[in-house]
Amino acid sequence: MEHDFQAALEAGDLAGLRACPKADLHIHAVMGGDRDFIRERTGRDIAPLEGVLGSMDEMHAWVDDTTGGVFRGAAGRALAFEATFVQAVKDGVTRIEVGEDVWGITQQDGTPGAVWRMLTQAHAAYGAQIDWVPQMGLSRHCPYAALDWWMTPLLGLGTFKTIDLSGDEFAQPIEVFVPLYRKAKAAGLKLKAHVGEWGTADDVWRAVELLELDEVQHGIAAADSPQVMRMLADAGVRLNLCPTSNLKLGRVARMADHPIRRLYDAGVRVTVNTDDPLMFGNGVSQEFLALFQAGVMTAAELDAIRIEGLS
Ligand SMILES: [Zn+2]
Repeated sequence: MEHDFQAALEAGDLAGLRACPKADLHIHAVMGGDRDFIRERTGRDIAPLEGVLGSMDEMHAWVDDTTGGVFRGAAGRALAFEATFVQAVKDGVTRIEVGEDVWGITQQDGTPGAVWRMLTQAHAAYGAQIDWVPQMGLSRHCPYAALDWWMTPLLGLGTFKTIDLSGDEFAQPIEVFVPLYRKAKAAGLKLKAHVGEWGTADDVWRAVELLELDEVQHGIAAADSPQVMRMLADAGVRLNLCPTSNLKLGRVARMADHPIRRLYDAGVRVTVNTDDPLMFGNGVSQEFLALFQAGVMTAAELDAIRIEGLS
């Protein structure tokens, strides 16, 4: 029998929440892994971030200092994906959208097949019970020609289902990525991009229009604009939110103030996700509980959001 998610929220029962089916649609594998698994495999204990950071540069510096290179090279990339599936299984995640940055092809033998083997082996060994949606990622600071060069053979495999753009939102204008998103769309991929985490509501709308996005990663700045929220709601564009990440990176001051409330009330489709569980010490179950305990959303609303993520 399926556990009662709403009762588990009301009781503060983390184990009960973990026993319920749920999705993680916004997670990065390099900071997505299980701390214990990584310590057992490498001897390195990666403790979660304490306090709040103020920029993506500070975040990247923290990651470099803390991970000490354990995720570098072909073996390091494989470890990151294995640890991510371990983490997701422990949290009772039943559906996950995650995958390799197209740059990752340079960390293997240069062939798309090696990237695909690495991902499928990690899933089979550590997360076979999870419905895995293979995702390819683009980093916003990489030159267009390099992204195109790395992405084309990976797209040619025909195995990836979604694409995401992440990294420094201000590195290059969104227009740069339009041709890559047209190719991904032609190949039938679901289109996602990080926008409106550091940028504005207008940035969210421009990215949705120009890249023809199906979903936005974060997009919390949209809550500043009733017009942009209305457009997102009318277009059915979903925002994959990560509340703890927004707190830890100083985008939202208190959980009680999280814009998920305004977005939800405006009819925007939202889901709740982790972003970087190794860095934030969180899981999807804890994210739901934090929103409930801060009085942001009711148990029934959070249950509806959980079910939204599984569709
Ligand atoms: Zn993210």
